Amino acid sequence: MLEGIDNDEVLSLLIAANVSSLPRMFINAFIVEIGTQTILIDGGAGNINGWGGRLVPAMVAAGYDPLQIDTILLTHGHSDHVGGLAGPLATKHFRNVKKVFLHRAELNFWRDDEARKVASADYQRLFDVACNVLDAYQQQLTPFEDGDVLLPGITAVHLPGHTPGHSGYLLESDGDSLLVWGDILHFPYIQVARPDATFAFDYTPDLAAKTRRKILTELSQNGRYVTGVHFNAPVRAKIETLGDSFQIFYEQQSRDVD
Ligand SMILES: [Zn+2]
Repeated sequence: MLEGIDNDEVLSLLIAANVSSLPRMFINAFIVEIGTQTILIDGGAGNINGWGGRLVPAMVAAGYDPLQIDTILLTHGHSDHVGGLAGPLATKHFRNVKKVFLHRAELNFWRDDEARKVASADYQRLFDVACNVLDAYQQQLTPFEDGDVLLPGITAVHLPGHTPGHSGYLLESDGDSLLVWGDILHFPYIQVARPDATFAFDYTPDLAAKTRRKILTELSQNGRYVTGVHFNAPVRAKIETLGDSFQIFYEQQSRDVD
């Protein structure tokens, strides 16, 4: 799935980080509470292609009723981020959602018939899943621009390249902050060390790599916490520089991470 890096280097980075070299990718989703609001960031893969599908049981186990979710924030429209939000024939899985936020460029991209026509067969399948979800929540779709404050303490951060409207969300509360992103990193231990290694589904790989280096640089300077949909667990981390590249330090976690 990675380009611009060979298998030997991947293996040596994983061994150096003391983690499993099994070819697996994690998919996280996040819940944020603000006052009486309950917000879901991304919606997992919904068992499309046999990926994931455990969002609702995981939410219930964590004490949340899916009907409590009133807002959804999307990092982007790929199937592993929106597949769990709707069933066949554009059936909503989260019926009480009032707003679904996504970057305007992201909405325009998935609704662009020309972009769909020129896409590969694999990518066209992504269009099908994204459009099914956009149809399901058509009345709730709320496009934003970079820097918009969407909710108290939540600011949109445009991080383009992986998709045209790919975004993160900066959460700020009581002097603390956390950036939640989608697909800046698919394989954290590899791509922090080699930020130029791109991912097979990057729509504009050069821009994705440039954005990755930029935001990693910013985080290493401002010391903010960050978490991501493909982090090795749903925990927060800090980024530090290491020569010309970076290192990721997950915060102490309640279960093993590999
Ligand atoms: Zn993803």
